[in-house]
Amino acid sequence: MPPQAYSQQRPPPPYGAPPPYGAPPPYGRPPAPYGPPGRPSPPRGSGGGKVVFIVLAAVIAVVLGLVRLGAAATTADQATGPDPSFGYQPPGDTDAGPAETATNPLLTDTSATLLPADCDYAPWGTGVEVARTFFETAAGCLADAWRPVLSAAGLPFSDPALSVTASTAGVTTPCTGTTSEFAAFYCPANHTIYMPISQLQTDLFEDNWVVYLSVFAHEYGHHVQALSGILRKANSDRVDAGVRSAQGLELSRRVELQANCFDGMFIGASSEAGALSSTQLNVARRDAYGRGDQSGDMRDHGTAENGGQWFETGVEQNRTARCNTFTASAGQVN
Ligand SMILES: [Zn+2]
Repeated sequence: MPPQAYSQQRPPPPYGAPPPYGAPPPYGRPPAPYGPPGRPSPPRGSGGGKVVFIVLAAVIAVVLGLVRLGAAATTADQATGPDPSFGYQPPGDTDAGPAETATNPLLTDTSATLLPADCDYAPWGTGVEVARTFFETAAGCLADAWRPVLSAAGLPFSDPALSVTASTAGVTTPCTGTTSEFAAFYCPANHTIYMPISQLQTDLFEDNWVVYLSVFAHEYGHHVQALSGILRKANSDRVDAGVRSAQGLELSRRVELQANCFDGMFIGASSEAGALSSTQLNVARRDAYGRGDQSGDMRDHGTAENGGQWFETGVEQNRTARCNTFTASAGQVN
């Protein structure tokens, strides 16, 4: 069983298939997907208000990177879902760029790239203060990397807020409400990245802190999507399409896989600067190929193969335009 430590309420979720990559990883099993292990209940009734609530909750939970339990637990073990009135980035959010996805200015400049990110990461540790300092230094480095790119595209920049806690117990957010069933995720309603240490599988990854950094860079990628206006448009399109429709789930995958690509851009840029070793880059790369939708999951994040491919595209191409998952073929985002 996974070592993921739940402090309360229920046993840790099971994890599905073994990792798709060939050689056994240094750790024993595939990591959980980015985001909390809870996922909202499927619609159960036809009452209008309830359906609206559930639908919105699903969008919020999925699009914002809140994820799911391992396959076997998903049907029985449900989060109640976040409060729909807060999870959305308001349509008139003036802190963000235009509500556009494929044509967003962030993605149309074919030269937009992250410069080598020579970060001075604080030491990793599982204590809250040590971990918070680690993520704060990472956030500073991510801001230094992304700010010029957004600026060059005429887009606003602001720092996300960080929430680093030992566990999810007692943490309420505008996106999740009072449920404690979540893992690392980004909440656009308050521009906050939540990093509950208990959900990072630290007994699995141990001191391979590049994995935690990569999760963080993925969530930061959602912040970049929010700043640019991409996330607002994708959310709105998904509601129009039906959040659990084939098209709605594909939109979710385009959002998530783009965050993987942005993650790869940053990890690659930091490696380029020598702040990460080639070994660390490879650990992050392998980790990217080890996540993704498992059998029985809602198809909202994409296959592990595609997750790895988009991370790799970010590392190798280091161009936001190459991370335009909204113009990618259906097969690249399945
Ligand atoms: Zn995500």
